[in-house]
Amino acid sequence: MTKFTDLALGPKILKAVEEAGYETPTPIQAGAIPPALEGRDVLGIAQTGTGKTASFTLPMIHMLARGRARARMPRSLVLCPTRELAAQVAENFDTYSKNVKLTKALLIGGVSFKEQDQLIDRGVDVLIATPGRLLDHFERGKLLLTGVQVMVVDEADRMLDMGFIPDIERIFSLTPFTRQTLFFSATMAPEIERITNTFLSNPVRIEVARQATASETIAQEVVMTKTARGEKGAREKRAILRGVIEREGEKMTNGIVFCNRKVDVDIVAKSLKKYGFDAAPIHGDLDQSQRTRTLDQFRDGGLKILVASDVAARGLDIPSVSHVFNYDVPTHSEDYVHRIGRTGRAGRDGKAVMICAPSDEKLLDAIEKLIDKAIPRADAPEVQLDDKPQRGRRKKDDEGSDEGESRGRGRGRRRKDEAKAEEIVEATNENAAPAEAEAEVASEPAEARSDKDNTRGGRGRRGGRGGNDDRGGNKVVGMGDHMPSFIAKSFEERKAG
Ligand code: AMP
Repeated sequence: MTKFTDLALGPKILKAVEEAGYETPTPIQAGAIPPALEGRDVLGIAQTGTGKTASFTLPMIHMLARGRARARMPRSLVLCPTRELAAQVAENFDTYSKNVKLTKALLIGGVSFKEQDQLIDRGVDVLIATPGRLLDHFERGKLLLTGVQVMVVDEADRMLDMGFIPDIERIFSLTPFTRQTLFFSATMAPEIERITNTFLSNPVRIEVARQATASETIAQEVVMTKTARGEKGAREKRAILRGVIEREGEKMTNGIVFCNRKVDVDIVAKSLKKYGFDAAPIHGDLDQSQRTRTLDQFRDGGLKILVASDVAARGLDIPSVSHVFNYDVPTHSEDYVHRIGRTGRAGRDGKAVMICAPSDEKLLDAIEKLIDKAIPRADAPEVQLDDKPQRGRRKKDDEGSDEGESRGRGRGRRRKDEAKAEEIVEATNENAAPAEAEAEVASEPAEARSDKDNTRGGRGRRGGRGGNDDRGGNKVVGMGDHMPSFIAKSFEERKAG
């Protein structure tokens, strides 16, 4: 088996790879690095999780180690469909170029033009960008692409989904035709094939197995709803979602809930939060710092449930997710494969539960055809559609000294909040736009703010009131006869601990 040391990478890069803990290249790396180092064009058919990012960053760092950047003329360019993916690529560059001197700039939405301009003005070796933002800079006359020696297109199939192909073609045409191109896509749609035929020169084609379809470690199930559409249907789905999450119990260490529409991402996250689940949304309308913070929290285990759209989640490297919940049946069958591929990674067990309304059965059929197997039907959990809160999970952050306060005073308030949340939720459930179109939309501060408030609110509020009556096994006071069983339960557990 090939080792990294068998590849013709410079010693400083090999050292960084070793320090990152890698000894053996993945198949896409073993296939792509040697021809890339020889200056050949590469067509890599591989998806996230295969190690594809290092398969282009490593040879690029090697090649860029010689020579110097000139003002406003980046020497290489990496195009990514989403900000998160671009940020991840930038992280890869940081990891593997730590022993060599390399300058880079990240051109993504949500970051100020001024800062980015300053970097470009000084000259960068690597420019990592989303296509729209790159063209914005170009059109402002701040950027010349005639010095690009290596150009990478990452996740081309997602670029296609998001309507970026004309931008990509334009960017190709702005770079010298003598450039080297490293082109990656998970699938080869006819349009992608056309682009590669037009812009790649005699590429070496490397195809690696689609990891998600091959993964047998993911247990899949579908839960059918009764109501097709409308408000009632949405309420039923949210209640079922809570039920299925609850049903997984402790087996669920963390999970991603996927929604088709970004408006639902917010609604579902809000609803889960109001019902005491530790959940936060991620989609293209949240500002960059908010998205980064949420993701970091999720990666570090400080957030249990991430509610996401396909675009926002695409390409994110989150190593261990125990569960994926499909709040909606994805409209593109392939997205199902991507979504469930978030769990059961690297041989771990994972579980994927999908909620399917009667009106979505056609989409479900298409998925089953694609994956060539029937997804087992599971019973729907019993749900109450009056949306009365049923359980009292609290965020980890809320545990501890302020527990008594949240239990005592918090209860009534929480009920009210929950009822209100559902109102908000219903009210916002209009004008839904497909999540696919969201990648480069402007940030929406109000939304980010409201989410921030939500993340911090519980803790601040309770802490602020000095809730500290969890000392010495106090009896629960003031609950009356109607204390829900979960409150007693959590109290007992905590006392024991
Ligand atoms: P990617 O497909 O580029 O998103 O990479 C997926 C994950 O694989 C990342 O967490 C990488 O750090 C990791 N990775 C990259 N190269 C290797 C390697 N040679 N061996 C093991 N893991 C790797």
